[in-house]
Amino acid sequence: MSTMNVVKKQGPGRGIEITTDAIPEPAPDEVLIKVNIAGICGTDLHIYRWDAWAESRVKPPLIIGHEFIGTIYALGKNVKHLQIGQRVSAEGHITCGHCKYCRNGQGHICKDVKILGVDRNGCFAEFVCVPAENVWPVHPDIPDFYGALFDPLGNAMHTVMAQPVSMKNVLITGAGSIGLFAIPIAKESGAKKVIVVEPNPFKREIALKVGADHVLDFYDSDIRRKILDYTDELGPDVFLEMSGNGQSLRLGLELLSNGGEVSLLGIPPREVELNLAEQIIFKGITIRGITGRRMFETWYQCESFLLKNGKVIDPIITHVLDLEDVEKGFMEMEANKAIKVLLKVSK
Ligand SMILES: [Zn+2]
Ligand SMILES: [Zn+2]
Repeated sequence: MSTMNVVKKQGPGRGIEITTDAIPEPAPDEVLIKVNIAGICGTDLHIYRWDAWAESRVKPPLIIGHEFIGTIYALGKNVKHLQIGQRVSAEGHITCGHCKYCRNGQGHICKDVKILGVDRNGCFAEFVCVPAENVWPVHPDIPDFYGALFDPLGNAMHTVMAQPVSMKNVLITGAGSIGLFAIPIAKESGAKKVIVVEPNPFKREIALKVGADHVLDFYDSDIRRKILDYTDELGPDVFLEMSGNGQSLRLGLELLSNGGEVSLLGIPPREVELNLAEQIIFKGITIRGITGRRMFETWYQCESFLLKNGKVIDPIITHVLDLEDVEKGFMEMEANKAIKVLLKVSK
């Protein structure tokens, strides 16, 4: 056996190809992992569609995918702390290890980060090579389906943990997979109420299933009144922006209580105009940008969450498909009929 099935971006333009490729050899500090289950991320959909971001960043040919669980199949010659057969996931952000941020324990904002399935071959393949230091052994009590989700769950965890939410009213705008994961994480962390604003009814329904106290249609003409009613007329204390939509961002800032805290994870496709004086400065608001996961604090937090209450995320996993059906997964995501799609990579 020297070839493997892969999902590959062959060149610029829409689409992907299911093809075969040579099984890679791990470099001295890497491990070769046999992928069991992989998850489709919004990032993969950007690459599939070949939008402006993908065009500027991705250099095909490339095997895509970065969310997965598998077992270690081979070790590079310098790798001593891991073992063949170990069940693992991996942090998909591969940091340089020597810039100022990496040396300060802030690898998530590394100057020279390389991302699995974006800047180097990813995990929509029977085998993937990953630096040993990125490997995350998955706790034996965490089932494979959840173990494949550490990466997106970690984005949500990082966003929720960026400020205290305990006993606070939390507003989340955007209920894609990361916005949805943030709901049970905020509740588990002691949030008083979690209010979710999302235009899509299918996503709102899942938000309720995973523990949102209130869900609202972004286009509801009474949305401001209702959010103030839910929050003792003061507005939410914490605002997690997960949609990347400029109007959602402005709505959240407008409603946020004085002294409130904002974490921005959603990526706006273009510049957003804000009323800095009225909505931020005079209200004494703190805004943070959130990228990636803290290495590896976020991973330990996700492990604790999954061990304690993993089943709560079940409604977010809407599809489990064979690797050959990956295109169907992209179609369903594009049509807003899927949230998290998992792919069975190895039979
Ligand atoms: Zn992802
Ligand atoms: Zn670095």
